[in-house]
Amino acid sequence: MVEAFAVASGKGGTGKTTSTLALGMALAERYDVTVVDADTGMANLLFHTGLDDADVTLHDLLVEGREASVDDAVYDRFGMSVVPCGTSLAAFEAADPGRLREVVAELAAGTDVLLLDSPAALGSKSAVLPVVLADRVVVVLQPTVPSLSDGLKVQEYARSYGTETAGVLFNRVRPDEDVERIAEQASRYFGGSALASVPESDAVRAARRAGEPLLAHAPTAPAADAFREAAATLDVRE
Ligand code: ADP
Ligand code: MG
Repeated sequence: MVEAFAVASGKGGTGKTTSTLALGMALAERYDVTVVDADTGMANLLFHTGLDDADVTLHDLLVEGREASVDDAVYDRFGMSVVPCGTSLAAFEAADPGRLREVVAELAAGTDVLLLDSPAALGSKSAVLPVVLADRVVVVLQPTVPSLSDGLKVQEYARSYGTETAGVLFNRVRPDEDVERIAEQASRYFGGSALASVPESDAVRAARRAGEPLLAHAPTAPAADAFREAAATLDVRE
């Protein structure tokens, strides 16, 4: 494997799942990419990939004495290998999140780039495990002070486990937002430039409704260009 990235944020709804799939599709033009819905409590990547009815999911790989093999939970979608997670509360409760470590190790052996769509918040050990397991973290933020503050905490926590920040991705940037100010904030707080500023976009919402990643549903939308730019700026380690 080349590299594993966690896509994380302080709060939910910043666009982690949208970003994971968009970065994944952009990187899939050069690499074998596997995306994993590691947000085992609030999984929703399945709804963005037409996998609502997937038989075997990450939950089945996290149970003690599992019967499923890792390959059973891998689906070919949009040029990537996708490991969805189910939405049942009972399955979440039956799963042992600590087993993610061995599942990630198995997946990593068969792919170039692994993207872990991560839970929001740092409340529990299981919520931070994807960030701990990754080589680097992509922090998804909105261009607001509270979101920046959340993102800084994610960065600090990740660093305490040796996971460096690959970059920050400003999402849902409105037309009246000052992009230069955002770039300045990124370098001041995160010690590097923003990977990209992704605009607030009807195309993102339409893609979700269609059950497709943005880059499949609206490849020419400005938001799709911004995500491709972010993927190129990631500078995956060869
Ligand atoms: P998270 O995984 O961080 O909870 P999602 O990727 O699921 O966030 O996004 C949350 C909601 O916001 C979704 O309905 C998604 O379609 C919408 N959304 C995300 N990014 C954008 C954007 N750039 N423009 C418009 N809507 C967006
Ligand atoms: Mg999500």
